Amino acid sequence: MAVRVVLLGAPGVGKGTQGRLLSERFGIPQVATGEILREAVKSGSPLGLEVKERMENGLLVPDETMIDLIEDRLGRDDVRRGFVLDGFPRTLAQAQALDRLLDRLGMPLQTALYLSAPIELVVGRLASRLECPVCHTTYNPSSAPPKVPGVCDRDGTALVTRADDDIASVRRRIEVYFAETEVLRDYYEKSEKLAKIDATRAPEVVFGDVIAAVERAAVPERERAGS
Ligand code: AMP
Repeated sequence: MAVRVVLLGAPGVGKGTQGRLLSERFGIPQVATGEILREAVKSGSPLGLEVKERMENGLLVPDETMIDLIEDRLGRDDVRRGFVLDGFPRTLAQAQALDRLLDRLGMPLQTALYLSAPIELVVGRLASRLECPVCHTTYNPSSAPPKVPGVCDRDGTALVTRADDDIASVRRRIEVYFAETEVLRDYYEKSEKLAKIDATRAPEVVFGDVIAAVERAAVPERERAGS
């Protein structure tokens, strides 16, 4: 089943975790723009040099740069069987560019999964979040601890705190989210693609709802293809 979805929601709400689970379940790439940018910063590439400061300060990278990046990524063969977008789009201009791009590629978006949780909860999660620098699995000492403290369950790497998870940039990212990204909820609601999911619960419980929403969105497409 080809699955083409976008994950929406505030920083820290669990997009990365749900994206990883979807990617594993359906065997499709998780396209996480923050991850792609962090790799670029690490490698010191021209893109990395361009975006480093904005990222560290919790500011958005300009639309033009992001749209070029996503055009390049979604032009590759591995997304023909589907994809899960995590962290893109983040502005109205990005959402419109994505719709045009997917139209052109003949693979329209099926659903935008809006993960919702009270803001105090996401701030708390971000402030204590730990990440594996190798496989990018995230943990939280209280709500989602690793089996061995400080060590990734999957590959045994020592966990780290993300450079932009300090309190000042967490606060900035939340502000930017409300100023720029929250409007996408209306955007996808109008095109009848929005599925709202309560993300306050444990990741595996949230994933049950995510799967149900993805299947609901993909089935009409299959029916159309079969008719
Ligand atoms: P994330 O890992 O999704 O929280 O993204 C980390 C940082 O990367 C953000 O705070 C932005 O600086 C940048 N970034 C990631 N995706 C985008 C995007 N779609 N538009 C603009 N900036 C982005």
